[in-house]
Amino acid sequence: MGEQIKFQLREDDIPWTWQNGAADLPGMAPILDPATAAPLKRDDLARTMPQQLVDQELSTAPEFEIPEAVREIYRQWRPTPMFRARRLEKALGTPARIYYKYEGVAPTGSFKPNSAVPQVYYNKLAGRQRLVVETGAGQWGSAIAFAAALFDMTAKVYMVKVSYQQKPYRRSIMEAFGTECTPSPSSETAAGRAVLAENPDHPGSLGVAKSEALQAVFADGSSGYARGSALNHVCAHQSVIGQEAIKQMDLADDYPDIVIGCAGGGSNLAGLSLPFLREKQRTGKDVRLIAAEPVACPTLTQGRIAYDYADTRQLTPLFRTHTLGHRFIPPAVHAGGLRAHNIAPLVSRAVEDGLMEAVALRQTECFQAGVMFARSEGIVPAPESTHAVRAAVDEALRCREEGVAKTILFGLSGHGNFDMAAYEQYFAGRLRDDTLSAEALASGLASIPQLAAV
Ligand SMILES: *Cc1c(COP(=O)(O)O)cnc(C)c1O
Repeated sequence: MGEQIKFQLREDDIPWTWQNGAADLPGMAPILDPATAAPLKRDDLARTMPQQLVDQELSTAPEFEIPEAVREIYRQWRPTPMFRARRLEKALGTPARIYYKYEGVAPTGSFKPNSAVPQVYYNKLAGRQRLVVETGAGQWGSAIAFAAALFDMTAKVYMVKVSYQQKPYRRSIMEAFGTECTPSPSSETAAGRAVLAENPDHPGSLGVAKSEALQAVFADGSSGYARGSALNHVCAHQSVIGQEAIKQMDLADDYPDIVIGCAGGGSNLAGLSLPFLREKQRTGKDVRLIAAEPVACPTLTQGRIAYDYADTRQLTPLFRTHTLGHRFIPPAVHAGGLRAHNIAPLVSRAVEDGLMEAVALRQTECFQAGVMFARSEGIVPAPESTHAVRAAVDEALRCREEGVAKTILFGLSGHGNFDMAAYEQYFAGRLRDDTLSAEALASGLASIPQLAAV
């Protein structure tokens, strides 16, 4: 029949601990204070991070316990289902077995609440009353709005302007949860005003929005900040994805040869794949890990490994990671969540060490795979997620050519129900392949700071 098969865990199977990727990739470079180029002190991190998150960020312990209050909320949508994509396999005529772990069942439609819930929780414990964050496509803002509502807090979100215009309903979701959403660059902050003075039509970028959120947090002692991706603690929270997936592969009586995730800041990819890396190191079970990123923002495939800021105005500490430069402005592709100039240091390190591969994919080939997926599996993927779908389809087609039956697992990081404007453009044949100009790439790379001490 080629029917879809679902591997559903029980509530008891929600993990009790988060896995810390820093334990699996020893010798991670320290985060640096930009003023002194010395490793950042706990107190510096504590300016914008509750103590528990500082501890997690700097720790190399293998695991952190998930607080009961957080696990309680996880129960609303976790464990998330894993499916075998039998209809997709059939449509591709591939001998490969394709599985996907579906995070779109979360209340806001993507994996982001996995980290928004604990970050809001720890901020509440620390006595903060309000969260201020930036958001690209609106997924992180929605997740924070959701978590803030559940913990009786308020939130304020700076949303990258181009996404704010492309995805008006994301803003409405945030408002429904009681959160205020402002397009960035805005005239509310010095960072926003400086960018607008340079270019009144600036489309916004995650780096600019992050500067705005940080300035707003620094200006108000009762506000906390929360990070949507990239940092070690965020990747750890997302490890619930991979931990569940390992149990579900067990239910399927199978094991992946290839694990694929889309890569923006790197957190869903890390969350799905690093638990498999841990398995590999512990049991020797071989697995290929693949990061799928857009050609328009090719952080892993064309970035440099260097210390750089995470925001445009140089308000963050320095992280050693693949970067396109903190002043890099990616073309306005629809995969808003993948338009990040740098990536999780853990993911960067895995790629640097040859433990993970990276591929860069074009927007139209991703939408094509996304539509094929929708028609065979009945879920419209988020534009970001179509990158993982495309990479999985390419691997499955390679299996067909080579006549080998590999097992492929990919992360379906969210549904695309709020991204219909992008699909509409695709169906109308108006979706372009935004190629990245050599000048944009070069000027981004030129903004990577030169550090004498490292
Ligand atoms: C935010 C987002 C991403 C990218 O974020 P990562 O930190 O790279 O995982 C991917 N897919 C969806 C649906 C998202 O919302």
